[in-house]
Amino acid sequence: MTVKTRFAPSPTGYLHVGGARTALYSWLFAKNQGGEFVLRIEDTDLERNSQEAVDAILEGMKWLGLEWNEGPYFQSKRFDRYNEQVDKLLAEDKAYKCYASKELLDEIREEQEANKEMPRYDSNHPKIKAANEAAKDGEPCVVRFRNPKEGSVVFDDQIRGRIEISNDQMDDLIIRRTDGSPTYNFVVVVDDWDMGITHVVRGEDHINNTPRQINIYEALGAPVPTFAHCAMILGDDGAKLSKRHGAVSVMQYRDEGYLPNALNNYLIRLGWSHGDQEIFSQEEMIKLFSLDAISKSASAFNTEKLHWLNNHYIKTSDPAYVAEHLQWHLENQNLSTENGPAITSVITLVGERCNTLVELAEQIRYFYEDFSEFEAGAAKKHLRGVAKGPLELALAKVEALEAWTTANIKEGVISAVCEELEIGMGKIGMPLRVAVTGGGQSPSVDAVMELIGKDRVVARIKMALAFIAEREANA
Ligand code: GLU
Repeated sequence: MTVKTRFAPSPTGYLHVGGARTALYSWLFAKNQGGEFVLRIEDTDLERNSQEAVDAILEGMKWLGLEWNEGPYFQSKRFDRYNEQVDKLLAEDKAYKCYASKELLDEIREEQEANKEMPRYDSNHPKIKAANEAAKDGEPCVVRFRNPKEGSVVFDDQIRGRIEISNDQMDDLIIRRTDGSPTYNFVVVVDDWDMGITHVVRGEDHINNTPRQINIYEALGAPVPTFAHCAMILGDDGAKLSKRHGAVSVMQYRDEGYLPNALNNYLIRLGWSHGDQEIFSQEEMIKLFSLDAISKSASAFNTEKLHWLNNHYIKTSDPAYVAEHLQWHLENQNLSTENGPAITSVITLVGERCNTLVELAEQIRYFYEDFSEFEAGAAKKHLRGVAKGPLELALAKVEALEAWTTANIKEGVISAVCEELEIGMGKIGMPLRVAVTGGGQSPSVDAVMELIGKDRVVARIKMALAFIAEREANA
């Protein structure tokens, strides 16, 4: 049997972290089993759905790299199929039309509450029976599923273990509304059946629907899939994760400079573990993932850990991968990398200093764009009269240097200046750093100079010397 899983979001908003984790688990399980993954958009609630939400979900899934083998299917395009199955259940007397009005149902509920009974729909209630007997064909009605009255539904949840619910706890569910539209619990069953879904991985908020759905599978003569219900995600503060906790839309993580691989690694650990391992390559995630290692209890979000992981991924990923995702931020920050060193070399040098791609994009401008001013604080401190001699000598050595490599810059420029002038490294290193980068913070200055390129370095040292001269003249 080929394993087939699905992710079935309702397009009422963007793809949020909880949904993304469910999608990831479902996707990983399919991959782990050599199976297939289906994307289905559950857009039956026409009033709450929007095309923007569909687009946002697809964008989020693609950004995370959770590619689907089939779909996206849209429930809104499958109404004929659902109606055909409702009609089949009607014909087999496994479902029935109910004409009881909303007012009547409200009245019965109030009576039940007054009598301290559990409020529920009961097809044998005399008032409901009377309403149904008096009704004529063609009058507005709903279709209800005839839930078994006896026995119980038992299923073996892959995360939560054995669950048993007695049938007398379940009333006859509406499967087609008065307006003719089918309801969630019914369409989800028809879809999972038609699409050959073997494993349903979804949020715990659906666990109460599962026994009802199992009864429907059985009535339809469909095989019942295996279920796995994932626990909730809580915010840093222990409350249910919500907008209030900051970035909850997956695309907001993109905007804030996270790599999708870092977010996936973060999400897999949010409720799943393999010993105390924290870092998983995508291959490892696929190889090691299993449903029974998903935690039963809720997991709390930890922004600091996400930062740490993101830094790890920026530092250790193939620079070409980082470059691909940095591109959006370069455009967003209006930085063109046309005039300057290969972006991958810059990433290798600067990446480890950054927790996010936003920071990375901010820190690399001087490789590609000339600046007209030095950062005030750094210039005040390091571009002073004492730096004039060292910088002049450095300039001469830079101009004379034959092979422009980091090692040569280190030996032939920086060390040579220190030796000739008998000064410490800081007396040339810092002025040079401010001169070539414009500020006081950068990776090793020799490596930075190599990437900036000789012509730019020459021009910038000259600019620093002019700055010092002007400052002295005004003193
Ligand atoms: N469409 C449902 C939701 O977004 C999910 C249904 C399911 O996974 O069975 O909550």
